[in-house]
Amino acid sequence: MKSFNTNEGKIAYFTMEIGLNPQMNTYSGGLGILSGDVIRSFADLEVPAVGVTQLNDRGYCKQILDEEGNQVYSEDVWNPEDYLERLSVKTSVEIEGKKVDVGAWQEEAESEGGFSVPVLFLDTNLEGNPEEHQNITSCLYRGDQKRRLKQEIVLGIGGARILKELDYEIRKYHMNESHSSLLTLELLKRYDMNRESVRDRCVFTTHTPESSGHDRFSYDLVKEVLGEFIPIKTLKDLSREEDLHMTLLALNLSGYANAVSKRHEEVTKEMFPGFPIDSITNGVHSSYWTSDSFKKLYDEYIPGWRKDHYKLKYAVRIPGEKIWKAHLDEKEKLIDYVNKKSDVEMNERVFTIGFARRATPYKRADLIFQNPDQLVKIDKEVGDFQIIFAGKPHPEGEESKKMIKKIKGHINDLKDNIEMTYLEDYDMGKAALMTSGADLWLNNPERGREACGTSGMKAACNGIPQLSTLDGWWIEGYIEDVTGWKIGSELGEKQENDRDVEANELYEKLTDKIIPTFYSQKKKWTQIMRNTIAHNASFFNAHRMVREYILNAF
Ligand SMILES: *Cc1c(COP(=O)(O)O)cnc(C)c1O
Repeated sequence: MKSFNTNEGKIAYFTMEIGLNPQMNTYSGGLGILSGDVIRSFADLEVPAVGVTQLNDRGYCKQILDEEGNQVYSEDVWNPEDYLERLSVKTSVEIEGKKVDVGAWQEEAESEGGFSVPVLFLDTNLEGNPEEHQNITSCLYRGDQKRRLKQEIVLGIGGARILKELDYEIRKYHMNESHSSLLTLELLKRYDMNRESVRDRCVFTTHTPESSGHDRFSYDLVKEVLGEFIPIKTLKDLSREEDLHMTLLALNLSGYANAVSKRHEEVTKEMFPGFPIDSITNGVHSSYWTSDSFKKLYDEYIPGWRKDHYKLKYAVRIPGEKIWKAHLDEKEKLIDYVNKKSDVEMNERVFTIGFARRATPYKRADLIFQNPDQLVKIDKEVGDFQIIFAGKPHPEGEESKKMIKKIKGHINDLKDNIEMTYLEDYDMGKAALMTSGADLWLNNPERGREACGTSGMKAACNGIPQLSTLDGWWIEGYIEDVTGWKIGSELGEKQENDRDVEANELYEKLTDKIIPTFYSQKKKWTQIMRNTIAHNASFFNAHRMVREYILNAF
């Protein structure tokens, strides 16, 4: 990596959200955490790069749940002055015919070796800006289409301009999701409307197979907010006739585009036929997501692993008892936390299932309650278990909020039989706690809808096996009985997602394999934990992912 030629400039990594510092609520979920892990890996691998994002100083959403599981919305405000340095640089964009100044704050991600990667947080809350435009950059994924378009003008166009103000030489502009696609238009103007020049400089990564996850704006709105920045006729040619589709714009003006798992590549090619789309499977930053007990263990048995995450392959050398001991230490921390935070009495000796993801119906946090009687029967007849849930919905996600209410209802109905809890306000800290303290990571999205999924990779860093439907990264990471277990088959073999069928398979796996192995075959269980590290943590990490970007995209 040292041979990366710095003379050719930096990689500019554009993202609407980022999980850089857990104290700064600048992310909503997987996309933001991934961006943080990419930046941390850029720093470790000494890749000359600069991140560009939105300030989001009023956060995304703080989740407060009442007894019945109703969600009360509140902003999640943090103070930039506590964490960031305000730069004196300024640029401007034009929004609704008015000049809007854009300033920036900076934070640097630094590697253990001292290499640092700056991240710029764009801010329109500046004196002199029209009042209605001061809060453009204040919070994430809130408000109407108009607000979103304004945010994307600031991120894409403002971001490209501020890099110029700061005299950055940029070798590639990497759009992490299409929120920043408008930067291609700024570059198009910079390069005399030469599309090839723009394509040479742009890389695009798409992260969702959900069509609602791809931003679209009507041309009426575009005219009103962006004006004739680029003739609408040209825009239609670069995107499509009906509306400004941000993913199509990015695809048309990027020299390289990728999906985030092999399966997601197939789905994306079906959604956007005719575009060459590669895939680079996501990864997590191993040392960031590895708990203290496992860090110690790896330091002892796998020297050099912090620099080179491939070395986790050598986990095969770690004795099973040591893995188990390290796991118990982390499990204790989680159980203590849960018992303090909720009115349950969980027990460290009991088999513990973790489920935590952004709360959205397709991820099906409620699947395990498809047949509550069956669940109670397993607990009584096969072996005791307890479940910890967490996950935030979008503040306006009515279906998601209903799902949480339903889960809280089940938890309450079954409370005399099974200890379960739904932790409030899922965030990076709780993710770290849960993906190092649970015995099993459960993941059961509807197949075809999960681009990749990363929480199971965090679990793998801590030797925790996964039980999951075959979607996203799990198609690449699962070896039955070796690194975990699958629910059902791949989509395509059996076309429909069927809740009853999949819930039954989930119960079967718990009954026939997972719970008996946990309680009666400790040696086999720790062998599975070791395999999870050796096979999956060694591969599904952000160092490997960034190396693939360097090789294939940059
Ligand atoms: C890792 C993480 C996610 C993403 O988890 P998925 O498995 O990809 O759904 C979401 N939110 C937080 C806080 C995380 O740490």
